[in-house]
Amino acid sequence: MFSKILIANRGEIAVRIIKTCRRMGIATVVVYSEADADSMAVEMADEAVFIGPAAASESYLVADKIVAACRETGAQAVHPGFGFLSENAGFARRLADEGIVFIGPNPEAIAAMGDKIESKKAAGRAGVSTVPGHVGEISDTAHAIQIAEEIGYPVMIKASAGGGGKGIRVAWTRKDVEEGFPAVQAEAKSSFGDDRIFIEKFIESPRHIEIQVLGDKHGHVVHLFERECSIQRRNQKVIEEAPSPLLDEATRKAMGDQAIALAKAVGYDSAGTVEFVAGQDRSFFFLEMNTRLQVEHPVTELITGIDLVEQMIRSAAGEPLPFAQGDLSINGWAIESRIYAEDPYRGFLPSIGRLVRYRPPEERTGADLTVRNDAGVREGDEISMFYDPMISKLSTWAPTRLAAVDAMGEALETFHIEGLGHNIPFLVAVMDEDRFRSGDLSTSYIKDEFPDGFQGTAPTSRQTDIQIAAACAMHQVMSERAWPGRGRHDWVVNLGGADHPVRLGVEGKTVTVELTEAGRRLVLSDIDWRPGRPVFSATLDGAQFSAQVRPAAEGFIIRHRAAEARVLVLTPVSALLHKRLPPKLAADTAKLVLSPMPGLVVSLDVVEGQEVKTGEVVAIIEAMKMQNIIRAERDGTVKMVGPKAGDSVAADEVLVEFA
Ligand code: ADP
Ligand code: ADP
Ligand code: MG
Repeated sequence: MFSKILIANRGEIAVRIIKTCRRMGIATVVVYSEADADSMAVEMADEAVFIGPAAASESYLVADKIVAACRETGAQAVHPGFGFLSENAGFARRLADEGIVFIGPNPEAIAAMGDKIESKKAAGRAGVSTVPGHVGEISDTAHAIQIAEEIGYPVMIKASAGGGGKGIRVAWTRKDVEEGFPAVQAEAKSSFGDDRIFIEKFIESPRHIEIQVLGDKHGHVVHLFERECSIQRRNQKVIEEAPSPLLDEATRKAMGDQAIALAKAVGYDSAGTVEFVAGQDRSFFFLEMNTRLQVEHPVTELITGIDLVEQMIRSAAGEPLPFAQGDLSINGWAIESRIYAEDPYRGFLPSIGRLVRYRPPEERTGADLTVRNDAGVREGDEISMFYDPMISKLSTWAPTRLAAVDAMGEALETFHIEGLGHNIPFLVAVMDEDRFRSGDLSTSYIKDEFPDGFQGTAPTSRQTDIQIAAACAMHQVMSERAWPGRGRHDWVVNLGGADHPVRLGVEGKTVTVELTEAGRRLVLSDIDWRPGRPVFSATLDGAQFSAQVRPAAEGFIIRHRAAEARVLVLTPVSALLHKRLPPKLAADTAKLVLSPMPGLVVSLDVVEGQEVKTGEVVAIIEAMKMQNIIRAERDGTVKMVGPKAGDSVAADEVLVEFA
């Protein structure tokens, strides 16, 4: 076994790998760029080596620097994590030449599978069912149209070297191919330095199901069952789970057998993932193989009890797999949510910045509940523009799917992040949504269920009760501090424009809120909150809940799950005054694209009279050296363009107005 491993990565995956190494008694080295000098990974590793500027192309992607860091520290092996150099056969070969072990598959297996065209050919030869289409390179747009028409629309135009949801475009018509082919080609060239393109049938509303495989250097390959990753936005995974609610034993076995056949055909000898798209009828077609550890590997670890990083290290060291297929089984259900620095209320716009507050739920492992949070950040750290905008991966495990979903909802509810926009309210809305709960998933789920984007959910009557009661309880604590023993008991709670007169009774940790007009009582007990704390927990009518709370003028902003409201607690007199104040007219912002932050306009990409589709780039705004892409949140015709490139804009300044 190795005594020292170098981790050629950063963030949560570097931290994840360090944890396993520590458990195995292996010393760790991390490399880091300028942007990561104070990172958690650097703090946790036994040694850290500086490798250059923040831009990955000058640090994490430079093989020479990784090799030099191994020489300097005496690391015998390199774990590449995912992204960066993890699927680079040249890097794996280079390490072998230097006498350093690559903790991943052999370079020939990476080369055979790292390319979508070549891997589709190999899959065909191994008897794996592939998405119908043209298995070969396409030279120009005319050729692309001919192929698309042979396959039949809709088709998907894909970069052979693509990854991370980039270099993919759906074409429904000939015109889409005319536009899409050169666009994907250009994107492939600039993102992957490789402009080979192929076309395959676009399977409508499929499910994404993938098989985890694990091999050793002795010719053994097993599979660790499937993960379903159908909850995607722009072809990128957001929520994953294991097992899949779609599969029956026969389909699971068929997919597992095909994945093993493919892995064996290319001499696969590490952890890898064979991705499929599946129809609702359980037909399935090979998409690609990822020859690395996958982002969503925790859900597989949670249902199998196997540490995939440990197995990768052991197989790289030449140990045979310690189990056979028959020794493996699925235990319970696991869900993972990718917590991203993006603002769901603003069309999921990237929202990088500082984690002014970062309070994840407590991790725990138990017989009927496990909560795991894979993160590489601490409070005060920055999510920068240089790398992936993922903040953490929150996973829950429970004996059944619904219990795991409920546990995820609760864990998300107590996860508090301030300082940047994040997708937690969106994730919690999915956990509460009926179709998701029923397991009726598809890659178009987000588009189907949130067609107009995400604005939070309307409160249920229990949520309104929670908001009223929590506001009263917090108000009570604060007025008791300001005027001890002299607190008044009659208040008016204003929520969503409606007044609710209340009378409060307090006894220890129990607050009784009498809604005097409705003639009802809300009894809040086991109140757990102090001024300044962002999470309020209590029991209402016997059921425990937590809510995210922050003070606002004359009251609080309270979010329970995805329902957020501003709740005012007023004296009866000021409630009357409020009623007499002329209501502020809310500006109709639906037709406007506003700058989400103060900054410099790098480009304004639309002109007056132009037809724009949802998701199209409207402008790029630079703020704090970070470029933010502003996309249209609706279809429309441009009526007015505000600033031009080079102008500076204020937050909420109008960039574009639609007709
Ligand atoms: P998964 O492991 O589920 O496939 P992703 O598809 O999101 O997860 O990819 C994992 C990470 O690797 C992401 O950070 C992604 O940006 C990066 N990545 C994947 N493939 C490539 C590629 N070909 N080139 C550059 N980055 C990639
Ligand atoms: P990447 O390397 O970016 O992960 P994939 O080939 O795995 O690229 O595709 C990413 C996602 O795009 C898939 O998870 C799936 O949702 C969708 N997709 C890819 N190919 C097809 C297809 N032929 N039909 C329908 N959806 C597809
Ligand atoms: Mg993929």
